[in-house]
Amino acid sequence: MKEINQMISEASSRNMIVPGFNVFGHEEALAVVKAAERAASPVLLMVNRDARQAMAIKHWGALFSSIAKMAEVPIGVHLDHCTDLDLIQEAIKSGFTSVMYDGSKLPLEDNIRNSRLVVQVAASWDVAVEGEVGSVPYDDLGETLGDFTTPEEAKSVVEEAGLDWLAVSVGNIHRLTDRKSTIDFQALQAIEKVTNVPLVIHGASGIRDEDRQQLKKSRVAKVNIGTALRQVFGQSLRREVLAFPEVFDRMTLFKNPMRLYEEKAYELICQLKK
Ligand SMILES: [Zn+2]
Repeated sequence: MKEINQMISEASSRNMIVPGFNVFGHEEALAVVKAAERAASPVLLMVNRDARQAMAIKHWGALFSSIAKMAEVPIGVHLDHCTDLDLIQEAIKSGFTSVMYDGSKLPLEDNIRNSRLVVQVAASWDVAVEGEVGSVPYDDLGETLGDFTTPEEAKSVVEEAGLDWLAVSVGNIHRLTDRKSTIDFQALQAIEKVTNVPLVIHGASGIRDEDRQQLKKSRVAKVNIGTALRQVFGQSLRREVLAFPEVFDRMTLFKNPMRLYEEKAYELICQLKK
C-alpha cells in the first residue's frame, strides 16, 4: 500500500486526521507541502471539480505527483468528488494516489455498482477509493439539509463495493464561509459501529475547533478543507494588489499571499496532527 494511504489507515488509531486540501495551482501546492514538512505531517493535495475545469487531469496528476515525490513527508494526490468513470480512470493512470467516486446522488444499488467498478480498476494500480453515501450539502448552493448517512447504507456500500474510505454526512456542510456546522457525534458513532474503514468528513472549514479535536478521537481519518484556504488566498491577494498598485508581476504579487496561505495550512495541519 502507498505510504500516504497507509497513514490514513492508521490515522484513527493514532488520534490524528490527515487533511486533504483543495488546491488550484502550483504555488498553493508548494505552500501546502512546505507547511506539511514544517509540521512533519502527511497531507493530500486534492483536485476538485473547479480545478478540473481549469486544467486537464493528466496535467494535475503530473504536476502534483512530481511535487509529492520531492517532499520530505508523505503527500497524497487525490481526485475529489468525481462521477465520471472515464475521468477517474485517467486520474488513476496520471499518478493520483487516491480517487473519490461520488455516487451519493444515485440510488444505493447504482452507487454500490459503480463504486465497485472503480475499486476494481483502482486496486490494480494500488490507488485507494473513497465513496460517499448520504449527501453533504453545499452552503453556496443554498442547501441547508443534506441526507445524513445511515448506518445501514454505510455498511452496505462499504462491504459490497469494497471501498477503502467512506465520506459521511453527519451535520458537516460544504463551503461554509462564516457560520459553523454542528457535527452529530451520535450519528457518527452509529456508522463507526457497523463499518471498519477510515471515515472522511468533507466541509471541514466549517467545523468548530473543539469538534475537530473530538473527531481526532473518532474513526475519521481524513478531512477535506477548501474554503478556509481559498479565503486566505482571496483576502491576502486583494490586500496586496490594493497596497501596491504599481506592482504587476505575478511572482511578486503572490509572495506575501502565499506566505499567509502556508501559515494557515500549517495551523490547520497542526490542529489535526497527533
Ligand atoms: Zn466534498
